[in-house]
Amino acid sequence: MKVAKFGGSSVANAKQIKKVANIIKSDSSRKVIVVSAPGKRFSDDVKMTDLLIELCYAKQQNQDHDLQLQNIMVRFQEIIEDLSLDQSILEDIQQTIEKYLQFDISPMAQLDALKSIGEDSSAKIVSAYLKHLGLNASYVNPKEAGIFVSNEPGNAQLLPESFSRIYKLREREGVSVVPGFFGYTENNDLVTFSRGGSDITGAILAAGTKASLYENFTDVDSVFAVNPNFVENPKDITVLTYKEMRELSYAGFSVFHDEALIPAFKEEIPVCIKNTNNPEAPGTMVVAERDSTDQCVVGIASDVGFCSLYVSKFLMNREVGFGRKLLNIFEDEGISFEHAPSGIDDMSVIFRDHLFTPEKEQIVIDRIRNELHVDTVSIHRDLAVVMVVGEGLVNTIGVAAKATASFAKAGINIDMINQGSSEVSMMFGVHAVDLEKAIQSLYKEFFTEDESNLTFPSAVARGHQ
Ligand code: ASP
Repeated sequence: MKVAKFGGSSVANAKQIKKVANIIKSDSSRKVIVVSAPGKRFSDDVKMTDLLIELCYAKQQNQDHDLQLQNIMVRFQEIIEDLSLDQSILEDIQQTIEKYLQFDISPMAQLDALKSIGEDSSAKIVSAYLKHLGLNASYVNPKEAGIFVSNEPGNAQLLPESFSRIYKLREREGVSVVPGFFGYTENNDLVTFSRGGSDITGAILAAGTKASLYENFTDVDSVFAVNPNFVENPKDITVLTYKEMRELSYAGFSVFHDEALIPAFKEEIPVCIKNTNNPEAPGTMVVAERDSTDQCVVGIASDVGFCSLYVSKFLMNREVGFGRKLLNIFEDEGISFEHAPSGIDDMSVIFRDHLFTPEKEQIVIDRIRNELHVDTVSIHRDLAVVMVVGEGLVNTIGVAAKATASFAKAGINIDMINQGSSEVSMMFGVHAVDLEKAIQSLYKEFFTEDESNLTFPSAVARGHQ
């Protein structure tokens, strides 16, 4: 049996839901369906989850919230009418929203309850539409499905005992449609996962039911080897491993919620990323292992917004505990670090720029000077990270040479290189202004034989500054 998850754009309106129904009908092994809340119908549209958040904030600030409520109801009404479904579904949705608006619970718990309405209603609508088409389908609440979570509003973590309960979903007749994005605590409190968390629900259900495949339907034919904002018509990735996907999504590949891979990865459930608008396309497979001899580099990822703190101290290598003390300062100040490349007498700590407010910067620098007695300490902001990702990378001779040569050709200065302990990626820190050139030169180097055919979208066309 397969678990299929449909993202927000797949359930954004009736037209999309009809495509979803056709996909479900075309394969009887698609037994467990997970749906997101209605997403954007066009680029300036607002996601249903964001409308629900606005409604909740208006209510909690004692503002008039009729307009927000109306925006939500109009969208559901349109979908329900266009699918020729019974009005009772709309009434049910309205009653649930009103019940949650009246809840006398903590603001965070109320926010989670309201946020869940998007997915919950999608599941009610999709199951009703499948029934309307004559399929044996039912709405299954996450509690009934066995999804039990910790009480961390907006960031629920699955309780391991859920898996044995979820396995029982296999026994259900027909198609089970489960809302994504939330679960329940043992005390019956509704708690959501982090944003984008329907992917997590899908992966949890695939792992719990020991599905043969987890299909993640979105709006792209496949995962591209590089962000198409930087390279026109980049190559598709047909197969990649969990580790490669994790590294790519760390640095900017937003196809998948990165936490979502964990349950699928642990149970070794293959994942297929497919397009609701073109289900015939084979999509991208994410698997435990692949033959990396034919293509050692699978993709190039990048992200901006990093900051690097550099310290040097003569004889640092002989000072027991220096690294721990430095990282302790970050821990004390609540800054999570991303990388910590080190030399003989130097060490850098790389972290997300937004965590380093001017006040934090002052405290951290003062503490490093006073407690660690370093020779120099400096901060470099506007750092971007580019990653070359691929399983075959560590065993292939010359990857670093090719990458650095391509940077040299493009006149890019490398601030940091970190192959570190990762067996599947090589990371380069460059100035954010050089990022575009860096990505393009790496793409040329690793993905094209004939450079003359390569076009890059102009910065103007992309609306970049
Ligand atoms: N609807 C939720 C969000 O917008 C969860 C999801 O779509 O996966 O974050």
